[in-house]
Amino acid sequence: MFLDLDMFLPDFFMNKVEDINLEKLKQLGFDSIIPDLDNTLVGWRSRTMSDSVKKWIETAIESGFKLCIVSNCLLHGRVRFFGEMLGIPFVFRAIKPRKKSFMDALKILDSPPDRTVVIGDQVFTDVFGGNRMGFLTILVLPIDKKEFYATLIQRTAEKILLSGFRKKGVLKELCEESERPLIKTPKTNSSDEGKNRTLKKNQ
Ligand SMILES: [Mg+2]
Repeated sequence: MFLDLDMFLPDFFMNKVEDINLEKLKQLGFDSIIPDLDNTLVGWRSRTMSDSVKKWIETAIESGFKLCIVSNCLLHGRVRFFGEMLGIPFVFRAIKPRKKSFMDALKILDSPPDRTVVIGDQVFTDVFGGNRMGFLTILVLPIDKKEFYATLIQRTAEKILLSGFRKKGVLKELCEESERPLIKTPKTNSSDEGKNRTLKKNQ
C-alpha cells in the first residue's frame, strides 16, 4: 500500500506555542486555531499552565482569533478545567486523527478548514489529522518528557519521520518571510463517524 508521507509533514515546526507569530498567521489568512492540550499547552497530566502560554492565548483572543481545544484526553473534567480557565470551547476524547472531532470544532468555530490552524505536539494525531482536514498544521516540541505509554511508542516512528523531513530540508519554521503553503484538499471518507463528544464550555 502506498503511504503518502507528506500527510505527516507539518506546514511549520516551532519549539513552542508561544513562538508562533499570531500576526503572521493573520496575514496568511487564518483566523481560527485548534490547539491540542497535553504537551502542547500544558505538560501531560499537569494542571498548571505557564503564564507565557496563557498570555499567548489571551493575545490570540484579543487579536480576534477563535479558538477551540481539541484533545484526545479521556477526562472531561481535565479538558473543561482548561477550557473554562481560558474561556474557550473544547472537544475532549477526540480520538485524533479521526476527523469527526475536528469537524465538531469547525462547527463550534464557524470556520472553514482553509482558515484554520491546528497546533499540536504529535505527528500521528495532530499533524496527520490536521492535514487530512486541510488545515494549516504546526508541530511543536512536547512540553514534557512524561507521556502516555502508547505515545512513547509512537515517538520512535515520529523521530524517524522527522529526521527524514529534516534531511530533505522540508521542515520549516514560521517566520516573517513565510508564505502561505498550498491549500490542501480535505480528504473525505465516511469512516470517521462516531459518537458526538463535543462540549462547549459550561455545558
Ligand atoms: Mg499532545
